[in-house]
Amino acid sequence: VILLLSCYELGHQPHSIALALGLLQQAQLPATVQDLSVETLNPSLLAAAQLIAISTPMHTALRLAVSLLPTIKQHAPNTKLIFWGHYAQLNEAYLLSQGVDLILSGEAEAQLVSFALAEESMTPRPSLPVLQKLSFVTPQRDQLPALSKYARLSINGEERLAGYTEASRGCLHHCTHCPIPAVYGGRFFVISQALVIQDVANQVRLGAQHITFGDPDFFNGPKHAISLLRELHRQFPRLTFDFTAKVEHLLRHPEWLPELVELGVIFVVSAFESLSPTVLTHLKKNHTRTQIEQLLSLADQAGLALRPTWVPFTPWTSLYDMVELFTFIEQFSLIQNIDPIQYSIRLLIPPGSLLLQDESLRPILGPLAQEALLYPWQHPDPAVDQLASSLQQRVAFGAETEEHPSQTFAALRAIVEDASQTKITRYVSRPKQPIPRLTEAWFC
Ligand code: SF4
Repeated sequence: VILLLSCYELGHQPHSIALALGLLQQAQLPATVQDLSVETLNPSLLAAAQLIAISTPMHTALRLAVSLLPTIKQHAPNTKLIFWGHYAQLNEAYLLSQGVDLILSGEAEAQLVSFALAEESMTPRPSLPVLQKLSFVTPQRDQLPALSKYARLSINGEERLAGYTEASRGCLHHCTHCPIPAVYGGRFFVISQALVIQDVANQVRLGAQHITFGDPDFFNGPKHAISLLRELHRQFPRLTFDFTAKVEHLLRHPEWLPELVELGVIFVVSAFESLSPTVLTHLKKNHTRTQIEQLLSLADQAGLALRPTWVPFTPWTSLYDMVELFTFIEQFSLIQNIDPIQYSIRLLIPPGSLLLQDESLRPILGPLAQEALLYPWQHPDPAVDQLASSLQQRVAFGAETEEHPSQTFAALRAIVEDASQTKITRYVSRPKQPIPRLTEAWFC
């Protein structure tokens, strides 16, 4: 029996595990699965497994998976152990030193099956990401915890069951703060429309009323994406959707923005990250503040809600940038569009990150903090690090007390004003409908 474990996938059913289950079923290999974000690890499954594979697409997931190693070794001391996902690849050397036998990343699920079939011998060794198109199958979700265990869509005061799928994997772009280019090197792979529709249909049958497309960027293949949405809307006219797309991709097809609304897209996540030209250049985001403003205006005209994400704290962020950010949020009436955790995100620099090629980081970067799985860095201005820490604490308090985001925003704005000794301009915000959101805030 092959045991597949998932640690944390942003509050949704793990797609790559569902895909691996589909491939294992096709190969007639028995598998068990546990999603440890909603289930407790069952040691008897560890002891019974002939092969254990842990999916670790996120930094948080990898840290949780590493913390399980002593338990796994205790209950399954001789069982071969695979870690798979972007962050596992970036931390390969450390994981191999901790008793993990093999790291898989990229389009790796078929390779996982061939190890399960013992077609390939599994001696511990470094490996490269798999960058060949996978023969995708329909993800198999019957063995996964029910959709009701995961984040729901919150809309107009009610909560709806949400499903999750992917129409492509990898990414064409090279944003330096993102783990995907470090693994995919600018490549992406589309999943056929028929398979995605089958996966969505299966989740609708399980009660999903909303589908999140978790593609790193849904518009890497824009024609594939829009034609998929058109067909899904034709077959499931009441279904709603959200996806993530970068500013330049959304701006490339402004004529699609009103159509997206008609097709049931109720919000789009877009990684704005910063307003500062310096920061945007270091992160190679390939957009500007002017383009962000242009997109906000076009989305507003189309009635399309955007949920921007940010990386406010970087080594190049100034206190002035934070004042600019909070002013901008006020000015464009975005308080409701942004999960408060976004105001406190601090740049993560894992091993293998493209950021390590940025010379300007050298003086402020500490040695690799192996167990934290990152390179610690200090801002040249200690006041900025202090501000980041104060905002993180205040955001955590707001989350614990289930405070309304606008109250958290006001408290954070006061902290920024205090730190920068600058009064942030208030704007009279237009009355707005609450923006739909998933009940689990995004962070990795
Ligand atoms: S566009 Fe998004 S997924 Fe692609 S490299 Fe940039 S941040 Fe990563």
